[in-house]
Amino acid sequence: MNIIIFGSPGSGKGTQSQFLVKKYNLFKLSTGDLLRKEINKKSPLGVKITSIVNSGSLVSNDIINNLIENIVSNKNYKNKIIFDGYPRNLSQAENLDKLLFKHHQKINIVIRLKASIDIIKKRITGRIICSKCGSTYNEFFNPPKEDTTCCKKEFLKKRDDDNVDVAIKRFETYEKSTEPVLNFYKKRNLIKDINGEANIEVIYSQITDYLSVIEGWLCIITPYNYAFKTYTQ
Ligand SMILES: [Zn+2]
Repeated sequence: MNIIIFGSPGSGKGTQSQFLVKKYNLFKLSTGDLLRKEINKKSPLGVKITSIVNSGSLVSNDIINNLIENIVSNKNYKNKIIFDGYPRNLSQAENLDKLLFKHHQKINIVIRLKASIDIIKKRITGRIICSKCGSTYNEFFNPPKEDTTCCKKEFLKKRDDDNVDVAIKRFETYEKSTEPVLNFYKKRNLIKDINGEANIEVIYSQITDYLSVIEGWLCIITPYNYAFKTYTQ
């Protein structure tokens, strides 16, 4: 099963995709990771990417497609990919479709974590980090405990307002740019909306409920397809 997970910054997408990778043994495909890996490998392509990034330009769609096809065509990851933060625009979505089709796969479900701007703002503005141990809290949802041994007031830091503004801008840009992509998948009835304002465990169990339905369905349909093919050959 191939999954796309959608969610704005602050929607809790990162946490959920981590859980899903573990439970279903998936490969998490994010273009940032792919680019970093290639750069670290110092392959000819990696060297090219380094020079593009250093010059301040954007990495071309061709290069990104190339990296994605390497994963999609890899038998170890066949029907085991979770796309996180990709596709970001309509042309990437169309291209991903072509690539998957070429390698006899498709997207089985698109999970959209929905949270209102108010909640997202509180998640972003309320974020507190302990500078000593790195624990994160939220003044609205998960305040630091009074009797803690480490995370005392003097170590607790909030982001400054500039960063909050940047984060909110990112949220707005995200909403605008992903709308056409979501419409693309909506037409195929692939989108499942999840309330991203619920707590982590509730969100997780809703997602896995949807996925177990798909898994069950794939189990039925796959042998049937196989039998049908054999019969018609
Ligand atoms: Zn601490």
